Amino acid sequence: MFKASANICPLEKRVFLSSPTMHGEEKEFVNKAISDNWVTTAGENIDALESMVAEYAGTKYAVALSSGTAALHLCMKMAGVRRDEKVFCSDMTFDATVNPVVYEGGIPVFIDTEYDTWNMDPSGLEEAFRIYPDVKVVVLAHLYGVPAKMDEILEICRKHGAVVIEDAAEALGASYMGADGDMHMCGSLGDYNAVSTNGNKIITGSSGGLFLTNSEEDAVKVRKWATQAREAAPWYQHEELGYNYRMSNIVAGIARGNMLHIAEHIEAKKQIYERYKDGFRDLPVSVNPYDKEKSIPNYWLSCLLIEKEAMCKQVRGEKEALYISEGGKSCPTEILEKLAENNAEGRPIWKPMHMQPLYRNCPFITAKSNNTYSRDSVLDVGADIYERGLCLPSDNKMMKQDQDRIIEIVKSCFG
Ligand SMILES: *Cc1c(COP(=O)(O)O)cnc(C)c1O
Repeated sequence: MFKASANICPLEKRVFLSSPTMHGEEKEFVNKAISDNWVTTAGENIDALESMVAEYAGTKYAVALSSGTAALHLCMKMAGVRRDEKVFCSDMTFDATVNPVVYEGGIPVFIDTEYDTWNMDPSGLEEAFRIYPDVKVVVLAHLYGVPAKMDEILEICRKHGAVVIEDAAEALGASYMGADGDMHMCGSLGDYNAVSTNGNKIITGSSGGLFLTNSEEDAVKVRKWATQAREAAPWYQHEELGYNYRMSNIVAGIARGNMLHIAEHIEAKKQIYERYKDGFRDLPVSVNPYDKEKSIPNYWLSCLLIEKEAMCKQVRGEKEALYISEGGKSCPTEILEKLAENNAEGRPIWKPMHMQPLYRNCPFITAKSNNTYSRDSVLDVGADIYERGLCLPSDNKMMKQDQDRIIEIVKSCFG
């Protein structure tokens, strides 16, 4: 089957999925650190970044760390996860959400996804507590900067006496309506919270992450563990196992400068999302959804989901994918291939953890209502979104005319 190939020339400059956007202040803070010889894991940039992010996210304290993964690992330590202890985890997420469970010897139990926000399904979580009533720790991500159904999830966790680790790595700047009717920032909603300033996130320091909390005691503990757990003594004195997880003052300088522009970044991402939504209105696809009543995303990545009837045949192995082109239909593999040919970077939806070779043997819980493997729903929700969805180029330096062409490329796939 041949499709009229779109009359589009490849984009002149590569459009990335999401790349760092520097403004100038980053360089000034870095230069100052270098001229002052504060080239270490302490200094003014770290202190300033910690206050900025804490104030922005609405928490009392922030501890700057070497990565979001390090922040999540220390969250896991704070939650007291022990060897062979089960931890309920988001399933459709980046594996850095889950790996820290295993660093501590815990066993991840994956909870299926819901269609409204593409995050942990509260009814799946409910089902998981029915099967494993003793679980005390839940770690959940806000995928692509879209807040999860936090009111339901927090209520279920409270009912079962479990603590919540919030992986807000992708969601700095997104917010959710609390029980008090006010909007609260992602990164302040859990008992232990982590954000990331890795190179592809909404704000970057090249790498890095922060632990966010309202507890002074927790902040002090995390800061101590992150600096090799040194005791207050004239020599290197150790009573606990520590880590070298502190952020560098150079990285903090970049993140500090970049953080001044978070509102602009979110606005640019929002416009990208809205333009895709508008551009695809005549196609059998939808963009990644969010709860308009209760949440404001940071629009970190725009994604699309193809309607079931508009999917051409696609087969994915462990490392390769094939599809059969069909008129009027398409699939993520075809769209990603066409985008790549045209110098634009998309990406498959993060492959669910229960489908990963690393985690295939861990328990996976779907909501009871989704447990009907009928002829037309053989997939769990995560596998289904993975099969039919993809992440679109969402770089906030993308020009409008570039995005128009990307929209044309996607349209041509359904030609
Ligand atoms: C990026 C990311 C992390 C890890 O953050 P790093 O700073 O890269 O270590 C964790 N969870 C999710 C969902 C992420 O996207």
